[in-house]
Amino acid sequence: MSDAKAPTTDRDRFASRMRGERRRTQRSIPSAEYPTHFIAWDRPYVATLKEVSKTGACFHVEGPCPEQSFDSVGVLDLTIKTPWEDVYRRGRVTWDRRSTDGVYFGVEYVDLAKDADCVGLLNMDKVKVDPTWALRIPASLALRRQVLPFAQADGHVYVACANVQDTGALHAVEKLVASPVRGEPAELESLKRALDRVYADLQSTPGKPRSIDVRSLAEMQPDDCVALCDELLHAAVLRQASDIHLDPDVDALQVRFRVDGNLERYLRLPTALQSGVLNRFKVLSAMDIAEKRAPQDGGFKHRYGRAGQTIDIRVATLPTKHGERMTLRLLALQTESLTLERLGMVDRDLQCFNRYLDQSHGMILLTGPTGSGKTTTLYAAIRRLLQRENLNVLTVEDPIEYEMRGVAQVEVDSADKVTFLKALRSVLRHDPDVIMVGEIRDAETADVAIKASLTGHLVFSTLHTNSAVSVITRLADMGVDRFLIAATMRLAVAQRLVRLLCPRCRKPRPLTVGEATALGDASLAGQTVFEPGGCIYCAGKGFIGRIGLFELLPLDEGWSRLIARGAEEAELIASMRSQQIPTLLHDGIAKVLNGATSVREVIGAVSAW
Ligand SMILES: [Zn+2]
Repeated sequence: MSDAKAPTTDRDRFASRMRGERRRTQRSIPSAEYPTHFIAWDRPYVATLKEVSKTGACFHVEGPCPEQSFDSVGVLDLTIKTPWEDVYRRGRVTWDRRSTDGVYFGVEYVDLAKDADCVGLLNMDKVKVDPTWALRIPASLALRRQVLPFAQADGHVYVACANVQDTGALHAVEKLVASPVRGEPAELESLKRALDRVYADLQSTPGKPRSIDVRSLAEMQPDDCVALCDELLHAAVLRQASDIHLDPDVDALQVRFRVDGNLERYLRLPTALQSGVLNRFKVLSAMDIAEKRAPQDGGFKHRYGRAGQTIDIRVATLPTKHGERMTLRLLALQTESLTLERLGMVDRDLQCFNRYLDQSHGMILLTGPTGSGKTTTLYAAIRRLLQRENLNVLTVEDPIEYEMRGVAQVEVDSADKVTFLKALRSVLRHDPDVIMVGEIRDAETADVAIKASLTGHLVFSTLHTNSAVSVITRLADMGVDRFLIAATMRLAVAQRLVRLLCPRCRKPRPLTVGEATALGDASLAGQTVFEPGGCIYCAGKGFIGRIGLFELLPLDEGWSRLIARGAEEAELIASMRSQQIPTLLHDGIAKVLNGATSVREVIGAVSAW
């Protein structure tokens, strides 16, 4: 073997360029374009490596352009997948250029040799903190010693810390969480921010929420229930839960959180605390404490965080065999970042959706089962409209899930004083440009909404059907005249939500023949798909957030004629097929193949009906 003086293969050329070595022989750029994975704004992206220089590289991301430019992210952790190995590089984005075929951006590699200390440090801004562990230690300990237990994986509770050498602090945490711990060095500034997020509330208001020592739950007095309830709310907010469930069973009160559509166990409280906890929430929601045998509804505002954010919480009780159960619904968490891009609309759908948003009248209907994110999409659409123009936007909702600046929102009253129909009629007298009706539940509401869209308003609403096509048949079944449907309906959108795989721990594997068949395309067998893993970034869950699957049915003239002459659902479906309009399943398959979600998630979401 000769000692190769100059690198000759692509691999050598690439490796030496990556090392930033100056060699005369490797002026040419590696010919292969390697796929490169990275995460920006909590979403996975795949780029193609276009050019490498000794200080950086240029990448190309195809398809949907994110609204923000990549240089607003700053530093990216890039995984360049060469055929022989994965090369990790950290790069600072220096420029971002939009083109018809996607985005090009350049990075300057952060010098790893010089920056060695920083490599491998946990960036707590990107970590999902699991309150199950974080709230087991007192705020004073966490803040003083700068330790934060944040996740459990492979039998250990991981503790982010400023100083891993501080074994005293780690021992203290180990005792409190009652599980072996592993210290994980964290980048100091991000750790401080995380500590502030988790423990600021527990510090600033003495006597207010504090961490509960699970081991001493049995000895807790009913008086402690105020602190306990505060902790539950705090934990739910930290975990970004949509609901808190309090379920009594034979020997305990089970506390569970709904996170990204799935129920997670949080705590089991001794039965002795049951009435104390329930009473506390009942008092907050102005319910009758004495009434235990009839279901009740109520709600309250919860204030949290340094900035004093508030969220609305809807509370409902139901008497069961082992006592009352209670569900607390947390409304309006994290809405400022809601954009159509972030909801997971691919470029094709986004362009189509935006085209219909530009129209001054007509009806856009979203459809899907409860919890499929329809309302979120409506809000994102309205937000986009408001950005572009000065419009008078009025909404009728039940309940108001997000408060939006610049929008007059009307809430439907459960006592039937203000129904969708009544509210909608009065809204029309206020000269709106855009009207959003939370849901079309009956023929009368459908009728008023249709007429409003006929008289020069843009109307958004939702319906409970399983596909975009069935929106038309459902409206017809409600008794809406088919000519009116044909004249007003502009766009029908079916939607589902699937969980987003944590891009840091997802595991590749080939798609099986069975799964490919279940997805309706046997030829897909053998393609690479991903399974959830579980790592410290996703609190060991393997998933991190959710994205939507969409099916857009634009109803142009041809469709209007079909609808007007009374075409049945089967005929509408056939027409959709012949025009090759992508369905929910198509969108799901695309999102499985690009690694955003798993096969099981898509099959579960799409075949849920
Ligand atoms: Zn993970």
